[in-house]
Amino acid sequence: MISRRLIAAATAAVVLGLSGQALAQANYPAKTITVVVPFAAGGPTDALARILSAKMSEKLGQQIIVDNVGGAGGTIGVAKAARAAPDGYTLAFTHMGTLAVNIALYKSLPYDSVKDFEPIGLGGTNPMVLVAKKGLPVKDFKEFAAYVKANEAKVQYGMAGIGAASHLGGLMLNSMMKVNVLEIPYRGTAPALNDLVAGQFDYMVDQAVNVLAQIKGGNIMALGVSTKKRLDVLPDVPTIDEAGLPGYEVEIWNGFFAPKGTPKAIIDKLNAVLTETLADPAISKRLAELAVVVPGKAESTPEALAATLKASIDKWVPAVRAAGVKPE
Ligand code: ASP
Repeated sequence: MISRRLIAAATAAVVLGLSGQALAQANYPAKTITVVVPFAAGGPTDALARILSAKMSEKLGQQIIVDNVGGAGGTIGVAKAARAAPDGYTLAFTHMGTLAVNIALYKSLPYDSVKDFEPIGLGGTNPMVLVAKKGLPVKDFKEFAAYVKANEAKVQYGMAGIGAASHLGGLMLNSMMKVNVLEIPYRGTAPALNDLVAGQFDYMVDQAVNVLAQIKGGNIMALGVSTKKRLDVLPDVPTIDEAGLPGYEVEIWNGFFAPKGTPKAIIDKLNAVLTETLADPAISKRLAELAVVVPGKAESTPEALAATLKASIDKWVPAVRAAGVKPE
């Protein structure tokens, strides 16, 4: 059925002499938008995508659905979004692991992080927490590091696939502790967390947003945070840097991206609603409770996200290579 809105837009287009493409842009969004999240539902990337998308959907007056396409450290979902039509109806919400770190970890990635996407805006930066299963016989980070070293052959850590944030957090930790332990890959850290709570593996470095509730519930142990400063939400948990690995620092930014060629007018519209969403007091309060660092207006422009991506590629590709990880 032709909506009144469409007829009005078409009439305006005739009056103004707009082309079909300009009409589509002026009328955007005219149907449901899909946001591909390249990890399992219920995990950190998914949680942030859903909080932001729900508010953006209200502001746009159109439904936004999240499509969880997990597997292969997020590369399957990101590749799906890269190949979608550049019309603003398929976007990706993903993080620096899939777009920057992965460059060092895969011999051939099914997308080019810079050439295949139009950045829309930064959605938030997440600190990480080193969490261990409850039964691990350690009280603090020092005991943990000694235990892992002494039990290298049997200890196992969980992560969401090669290039996931949890992989980066774990591999930098293990490389700085000089241990080589078996990694257990999952489609996201939501299912990994279930298994950690059940004691199926020993530890994981995951984004705070995903693990806070289980730490507070006493179901897993928090042994260190990945930032230079302690987190307000976990004031008693030391930084990994202060607890024994000086220089350890990993934070995960997340952002919205569109396939290359998506019209600038659409990118700008999405960026405007994202920026308004981040400035919404209820959203920023909710994100702060989850330890998400909310970007200011200047940090959430498309250009700032392009610069953030580039800076992460420059920082993490050599760092991961230096950690001695061989590309798959
Ligand atoms: N983004 C998380 C990671 O990279 C996984 C997830 O969102 O489930 O570890």
